[in-house]
Amino acid sequence: MAGEPQDDCLFCKIVAGSIPATIVRETETTVAFRDINPQAPTHVLVIPKAHHQDAAALAAAAPELAADVLRETRAVADEEKLESYRIVFNTGTGAGQTVWHAHAHVLGGRGFEWPPG
Ligand code: 5GP
Ligand code: ZN
Repeated sequence: MAGEPQDDCLFCKIVAGSIPATIVRETETTVAFRDINPQAPTHVLVIPKAHHQDAAALAAAAPELAADVLRETRAVADEEKLESYRIVFNTGTGAGQTVWHAHAHVLGGRGFEWPPG
């Protein structure tokens, strides 16, 4: 069920502490941790603690929680002293989503091209 922890979900396991992660921030509703395969000098993932399969499902089912995630991306950027940064929500296989628990990538510390590849 949306919002409930899923036994087979990697990020639910990080929330539960059963898989280790380098956590940079935690709030009542969110966790931010470093990506295991960083694509930029700063690459942090911000996730809701509750399980929603992607950003669209999160926004539809729990808009306040989606706002918490977005607010936390700013807090991460501030802590990492990023003047410019990119927030990415890969949504769907064709966009590169590989973990089916909503997450925002916060990327910074290098330049980015637009349009993205
Ligand atoms: P997606 O491709 O779904 O947008 O992003 C999933 C991200 O999770 C990838 O950037 C990947 O490197 C990261 N990731 C996958 N497994 C782990 C893990 O066990 N720990 C951490 N910290 N990040 C992970
Ligand atoms: Zn999950």
